[in-house]
Order: sequence, then C-alpha cells, then structure tokens
Amino acid sequence: MVNSMVENIPCNLCGAQDSEPYFTKGGLTIVRCTRCGLVYVNPRLKKTEVWKRYNPDYFWQEYMPAHRAPNGEFVADWHRQRAQPVLNLLQPYYQLGTLLEVGCAAGFFLKIAEETGWKTHGVEIMSPAVAYARDTLGLNVFEGTLEQAQFGDESFDAVVMIETVEHLLDPAETVRQAYRLLRPGGAIWIAVPNLRSIMLPLLGVDWSVLSPVEHLYYFTEDTLRQMLKNIGFRSVQFFWRLDHHHVLKTMNPYNTHRPGSLRSRLVRWGVLTFGRVVDPLIIKMKRTDRLMALAVK
Ligand SMILES: [Zn+2]
Repeated sequence: MVNSMVENIPCNLCGAQDSEPYFTKGGLTIVRCTRCGLVYVNPRLKKTEVWKRYNPDYFWQEYMPAHRAPNGEFVADWHRQRAQPVLNLLQPYYQLGTLLEVGCAAGFFLKIAEETGWKTHGVEIMSPAVAYARDTLGLNVFEGTLEQAQFGDESFDAVVMIETVEHLLDPAETVRQAYRLLRPGGAIWIAVPNLRSIMLPLLGVDWSVLSPVEHLYYFTEDTLRQMLKNIGFRSVQFFWRLDHHHVLKTMNPYNTHRPGSLRSRLVRWGVLTFGRVVDPLIIKMKRTDRLMALAVK
C-alpha cells in the first residue's frame, strides 16, 4: 500500500489511538481498540481511494446481481419479502409518514416502503445507483452524503441504514446526523454484518465480510449499542433474525473469498447438511451473520 493512499485514524467510538492488530488482509490491517473494543481498519485507504470502489462495475456486477437484478429488473415480491419485516417494526413510529434511507443504493427497500404508504427520501453516493433509483423506480434520492443533503431537523419518523454503517468513514457522525433528523420518538433501524458471526471462526480471514477496502468498521452487539447510546438513542433493541430469514441468511457459507479452498468447501458442506438443525442454536447464541438494531430518539 502506498503511504500517500492511507491514513491513520483514532477510534470512532472512544477517540483512543491505542489498538492491536486483529486481521491483515490485502495489505490492510483490521485492528481492535484496546480501550472500547471497536474493530476497524487502521490505517485505512483515504476517502478518494475508498470511493473508487463504488464504481459502475461494483453496482452492476456485484450489487445488482446480489439483489436479483443483474439486468436492472425490479423483482418486487422478493424485495417485499425482505423489506416487510423491517417496515412492520417501523410502522408504530408512523406519524409524519416520512422515512429516510441512508445508503439506499438502487432504492429497492424505499420502493417497497413507498408502496406501504411512507413518503420516502434516499441518500446515496453511487451515481449509477442514484440514476437507477430515480429513473427506473421514480424515487426521490439525493446524490451525496447525509451531511451534504441538508434535510431539516426532526423531519423524519424513521431513518434506515441497511448494510451501510460498516462502509462509512465516520459512522458515529453520520448516525448523529440521523439522530438530528429524527423527530423525538422517531426510530432508527440499522443492519450491519455481525463480527460475532459463527462464519468468522469457520472461514477465518477468507470470510468475505472482512473486506478492508470498503468495510471499514466491524460491529458487535456491544459496540453498536455503545455507539447508539453515546449519541442519545434509547430503547436499543437487537434482532438476530427476521421472519423471512432462512439458514443462508443466518450463516452464509458462500461469503468466502476462496470458494475453492478445502476449508470453504467443508464449511459449505457442513452448513448445507446441518444448517437447519443448528440454526436455532446459532440464533440463540447471537452468532448470526447479521446484527440488526432498532432504537428510539
Ligand atoms: Zn475505542
């Protein structure tokens, strides 16, 4: 890694400079804060380098195929199945009827939210995603960061961040902005990869969630709760699975950077063979792939 391309950063949660190496991958090191336990990439690529990752190839070759849309299709039933459990949890907070998604990508979640009666806004930095959300789905999406969007204070009932927070350069600041935009009593929904996933010990450093170019932060229940509480959120509630989840959502053995390795093949065989039996235990032990939190302003 060329020195001018990387930067050293303090812990985003407690400001400490002390950390110990945790994993090294692709020339970048993932560290753990010795004071509060937050896991993050340090030193990390600078913003201009990180943002290069979000190019049209990333959107069309990685993001869209992973969302059943290799050719730009909108498979409404599939998205409805994924979005509805989240929308059900947010429904009690419906007053103004306004919902904001930060990092909305193509806007699939927002489109379903709109169908169920929410007035929706999105924020997204990936140009081709913004174009798709606006032109194909007819959504209201701001291109840029949440800080640049300049929404009014207390103007939303709900803010949603699905697989976004781990990509942010300053997650605490962005979530603080979300807090400012929520009306008192409004709710935030955050879904991130779970650093305590059983897939980490099983796949080791090959686990594709460990992607230090663009996944800059790795949360546990403890560190995500701490971040939400520091900002002022209350009634923080965690979820380990939603109604539509199946075994591959709980522990996905395909999330590996070396699918052909013996280790990856063994894990895949194990999950496909015994996954359904151990699934309830994995959920009970909070070792699922995703960590989801609902919190109230
Ligand atoms: Zn810390």
